[in-house]
Parts: sequence; C-alpha cells; structure tokens
Amino acid sequence: MINKHLFKPRQQFKILVQSRSLATQLNPHPFTPNGPVNSSKEHKDGDIRNDWNRNDIQAIYQQPLLELVYRAASVHRMYHEPGKVQLCTLMNIKTGGCSEDCSYCSQSSRYSTGTEAGKLLALDPVIQEAKRAKNAGSTRFCMGAAWRDVGGRKRGFDRILAMVREIKGMGMEVCTTLGMLSSEQAIALKDAGLTAYNHNLDTSREYYPEVITSRSYDDRLSTISNVRDAGISVCSGGILGLGEQQDDRVGLIWELSRLPEHPESFPVNALVPIKGTPLENNTPVAVEEVVRTIATARIVMPKSIVRIAAGRKMFTDAEQAMCFMSGANAIFSGYMLTTDGVEKDQDAELFEKWGLQPMRPYENVEDTYENKIQAAPSPLQQTQQA
Ligand code: SF4
Repeated sequence: MINKHLFKPRQQFKILVQSRSLATQLNPHPFTPNGPVNSSKEHKDGDIRNDWNRNDIQAIYQQPLLELVYRAASVHRMYHEPGKVQLCTLMNIKTGGCSEDCSYCSQSSRYSTGTEAGKLLALDPVIQEAKRAKNAGSTRFCMGAAWRDVGGRKRGFDRILAMVREIKGMGMEVCTTLGMLSSEQAIALKDAGLTAYNHNLDTSREYYPEVITSRSYDDRLSTISNVRDAGISVCSGGILGLGEQQDDRVGLIWELSRLPEHPESFPVNALVPIKGTPLENNTPVAVEEVVRTIATARIVMPKSIVRIAAGRKMFTDAEQAMCFMSGANAIFSGYMLTTDGVEKDQDAELFEKWGLQPMRPYENVEDTYENKIQAAPSPLQQTQQA
C-alpha cells in the first residue's frame, strides 16, 4: 500500500502503473499448484463476464487461500482505489412482526426471539438519524423494514418515499430494504431518488429451501429484476454460516454473476446465531470462508462494491484487514438490523491502523481506480512534460 504522506498523487499513480505492469508480466497466478483456475482461455482476470461456469468459480474459490487473496487484490486494483472503503449506516425503520420464515431472523413473527413488533417510524427521527450518520462520516444511509412486501401499505410507502427524498437531498446515497417490490413500486422509489435497493439471495438455489420456505428464490430474482429495470442499483448478497457448504457459497456467487448486470453491491453477512430462531445453535462460519467468499466475488464480479455486513464484530482487526485485502471495500458502521455492529469510533481506529480512507458519496464504479490510472499521464508523457 502506498503511503500517501510520502508520495505526491502523480508519483503514486506512476508507482501503481509500474507495479500493475510488473504484476501482469509475472502472471497473477503462476504458482497455483492446481494449475490455471480459469479453464476458459479467452478470458482473463478483470474481464466483466455474465457467462461464468460454476466449475470455474468453484476452482477459484478452492485455490490456496493466499494465492486467492493475491489474485483478488490484483483484480481489485483494476477497478477500485485500494484503501478506499465506503461507510454505510443502517437503520431499522420498522422492526419485527414479519410474516416470513427466514430461519436466521429475529424479526420473523414465527419465532420467539424477544423482538417486539413495532410500527413504521415517523419521518423526523429517521431524518435526524441520517443527519447524525452523515456528520459521523457515513455516505450511504440504508433503511430496513421487516415486511414480506410493500403491497397494501400505501401510507407507509408514501412516508418511505418522503424519507428517501429528504436523505437524498442531504447529499447521501440512499438504500432501502423493504422486502419484495413490484415494478411500479421500484419506479416510485427511483423517482424519489433511491440509489440502491437491497434484496439478498442469501445462499445457493439448492440450499435456499432449507432456510426459507415462505417465498421462493425466483421471487427474489423477480424483485431484483424490477429494481434493475427501474434504474436503481442492486445490492444483493448472502449470509454465511446458515449450515451451507462451500458449493452453496459458490452457487450464490454464480447466480449473481449470471444476471444481465452484476449487482453494484455484494454484501457478505456472517450469521450471528439468535436465540429462538431455528439456527440458534449454528457454529459461526470460519473467517477463512468469509475471506474466500469475498475474494471469489471480487474476481467474478470485479466492479461490484463488496460489503462486509452483519457479523463483522466477530472478526479481529487483522481478520478484517484480510477481508479488505481480498477486495472488500464497504462496511456498515454502527448498528445492524438485528445484531450488534461495530461502533463508529472503533472503525475510526481501524481505518487509522490499516491506512484506510472513507469513500466519498457516489464514488463508485463511474469513478474507478482504473479510469484514474488511464486518465493519468503515462511515464513517457510525464517525461515529455517535465
Ligand atoms: S429477513 Fe426480512 S423477510 Fe425474512 S423474516 Fe427477517 S425481516 Fe422478514
């Protein structure tokens, strides 16, 4: 990583261009004992592909871990500025009482978890919280409601549209997660200024029925399609530690990689088992599986923001650094929807320790590291200009 205090911006770019060129010459994965992991000769790392073969993704996932991290870090630098991490704040605007049976969730009315059902919050406390989040450095404000869908909640939906308008007007990115969405509702959210909509696939298609039965995998894909068609960024990822196997984590990434466009955001949650849910006795997922999932997603969907979401509190600072090295470039700071998050001052220390910097609002794939490198003068041009 480049120490920004030692080098001026142009020197930084020069060094980065040179190091990238060297990395390319060396081939990012020459020492993989299992041989080349990309069986398709016409593709190279960093290509944006929607025709991924599940076996190829499996081979990437199963590489020796440090080779995988190195390869993911190389792809990360093609599209993102290393060390830049997006800070998001999450707020539960309607808690508990949900009709769905997601077996990990404390907000489902089917389980005795102690979470009480609340009403949709009024506009004012939400706006106040968004202002606090902005003042603390967050650039994205995400609002979650524990609902199966938005249907039949006209007054509530209108209030959420007002929240989106106000928070967008504050210069923040706005994200919501409100359950299943029709195309008309997606368009209304887009018109209000919504940046992104979160709707996770959670796991592979095969393992999904072990976790949720009250709505199907295709229901989820349909909502994602409505969001995409409305011109809203898609945030869709999964939860690790549901009892799934490696193949299911690969299956999750594979499903998302084959969408007409990759999700702009891929959140990786580590299950925090909640008493009273069917998964209360699950063993927490090993951090190396989290790192493998992040690194594989980075390689398969190079432009996406990869987000460390719920469960981050279980990981040490060094383990989180490994996640950042593997291509993660967003975190939730503060509370999660149903589990403890990491306090903002702890994150400030984490950023200081590892030399990380918060991303600006709307600093995403349109403002990529790759574009900046290409826009920067080449070493030859710099010599001519000198
Ligand atoms: S995850 Fe969402 S849809 Fe599922 S039970 Fe919890 S609040 Fe309801």
